[in-house]
Amino acid sequence: HHADRSTVWVGQAGRRVPIGPETFTFMAGPCAVESAEQTLEAARMAQAAGATILRGGAYKPRTSPYAFQGLGVRGLEILADVREATGMPVVTEIVDARDVDVVAEHADMLQVGTRNMANFGLLQAVGESGKPVLLKRGMTATIEEWLMAAEYIAQRGNLDVVLCERGIRTFEPATRNTLDISAVPVVQATSHLPVIIDPSHAAGRKDLVVPLSRAGIAVGADGVIVDVHPEPENALCDGPQALLGDELRDLAQAVRDLPAMVGRA
Ligand code: PEP
Repeated sequence: HHADRSTVWVGQAGRRVPIGPETFTFMAGPCAVESAEQTLEAARMAQAAGATILRGGAYKPRTSPYAFQGLGVRGLEILADVREATGMPVVTEIVDARDVDVVAEHADMLQVGTRNMANFGLLQAVGESGKPVLLKRGMTATIEEWLMAAEYIAQRGNLDVVLCERGIRTFEPATRNTLDISAVPVVQATSHLPVIIDPSHAAGRKDLVVPLSRAGIAVGADGVIVDVHPEPENALCDGPQALLGDELRDLAQAVRDLPAMVGRA
């Protein structure tokens, strides 16, 4: 904890992207890596909309064990290929501490998802990975618990942690989770770490992604991470929240114009 807010750099030399107070970072990509073609197409859509970091899940922590679980190592290889094709650094989720080496070999940033925020062995493992970490807030975690999870990573010598508010469980069933907008300024008042929002996984509905992104920019988030898919109706994971067409254009405009209006680059 210190007064100066940190910037975390993601990517290899020559194509490093900052996440922090000086800029607003737009990250986008498919919820799940399904094939080389789908991932490349989603990455091109994201890049054309202004995204500078590619997201995509190779290991999917699904509520149902019968749902698509991701392509695993093949998915990581696809992400690495798409990084070469587009120049976009890659963030991808890790769900098992035993996969740290293989995920770190293929990706630029390791994501710890909401279901694993308090998986302390995993936090320690990513703390030793040498890669920046995107730490999502547990859907039932307090802000204090979330910051303590970040401490587990920092304690292993890794200070390159970006926090991601992705919605919490409330009594409201209209959205999948409730994006806790107030978490952004609360975290920024307490921690030096960058904080971004994930309106796609919070809402679970594409019509809410643009309004929630605007809200996130307005409260001072350091970036946004969203799902895009070339054919949401055929997506193997979370199609209803994936952007395409008009929504993606509206989001591109919001992330281009609104940060300057709230005093960011
Ligand atoms: C994801 O980003 O792919 C994901 C599963 O998110 P969360 O952990 O926030 O549900």
